[in-house]
Amino acid sequence: MECPKCKSIDRMKDGFVGGRQRYQCKCCGYRYTVKQKSTAKPIEMKLQAVRMYEEGLGMRAIARVLQVNHVSVQNWIKRLAPVAPAQLKRA
Ligand SMILES: [Zn+2]
Repeated sequence: MECPKCKSIDRMKDGFVGGRQRYQCKCCGYRYTVKQKSTAKPIEMKLQAVRMYEEGLGMRAIARVLQVNHVSVQNWIKRLAPVAPAQLKRA
């Protein structure tokens, strides 16, 4: 994340705003917050969840291990379980 104004990456932390880290650019003094991270998880994590599920772990246990919402795990398994075996071999 760089300064939106001058594109400098030289910055210092300047507290939090609404749970997001705020920075102040050392170059131009502009204050900005970092973009919220995308909530989309990498495919590796999803496939790992499916693999754990196939190893007999419960969805809540998987969610705890991967530190994600168990509803997400449920969705991944629903979506990926039918296609996972081929992908797991490649992974
Ligand atoms: Zn700047």
